Amino acid sequence: MKIHRLPALSDNYIFLLHEPEQQIAAVVDPADATPVLRTLDELGANLIAIFNTHHHADHVGGNTQLLRSFPGAVIYGGAEDRGRIPGQQVFLQEGDRVTFGDRVAEVFFVPGHTRAHIAYYFAPVQADEMGDLFCGDTLFSGGCGRLFEGTPAQMIRSLDKLRNLPDSTRVWCAHEYTLKNLQFALTVDVDNRDLQQRFVEVKAMRDRSEATIPANLGIEKRTNPFLRWDDKHLQMVTKANNEVQTFTRLRGMKEHF
Ligand code: ZN
Ligand code: FE
Repeated sequence: MKIHRLPALSDNYIFLLHEPEQQIAAVVDPADATPVLRTLDELGANLIAIFNTHHHADHVGGNTQLLRSFPGAVIYGGAEDRGRIPGQQVFLQEGDRVTFGDRVAEVFFVPGHTRAHIAYYFAPVQADEMGDLFCGDTLFSGGCGRLFEGTPAQMIRSLDKLRNLPDSTRVWCAHEYTLKNLQFALTVDVDNRDLQQRFVEVKAMRDRSEATIPANLGIEKRTNPFLRWDDKHLQMVTKANNEVQTFTRLRGMKEHF
């Protein structure tokens, strides 16, 4: 499975999955149909699936037009998003499995950013390969999504599911927010060596207009404050008494950053 990263709108990424042998493709969160159609045309591939993580327009905006061009494509989304995702045909829940070619993805129910948000995890086929996590606006590189329809406690449970995946997992999040996220992270975790190093790398990449996605989950676990609600230092910095309070205060500080 080849993964193409297509920039869309101002800072979104659409991910196009391509299986060259069968010339089939799937797309994760098509914000806009245009770059997807162009890439499918270049590849000569047939779109068979649209995997949506949640209902926001910058994730489903291309659904209808793509379905018009590829009427056989199946549109997947979370069960709780019924009525909110254009063209949705499959209603997924925690633990469901979806297939693409010979690959299988596990579905995680990860409410918090929205109440219906799901993530797709393609486990590696062989032990020495990397898994691929498509997590929409739940986990970002260096941050996490805003809580529009969920509580901090819910978001922690959701992020904890993703945190339990192997360190080698590639994190395909839907926005290029890494640099801004790490700038915030440094304000609460300035002595974190891994974070300092990651910031320098990301700054250089962005200066060269390079994408910072996919991120590496192992690095996220060490540098992303929104995966470290149980970290003693962050608890102290936020003057919190427990994990939910630590996370809530970090989220609040980020809103005003
Ligand atoms: Zn969103
Ligand atoms: Fe988004």
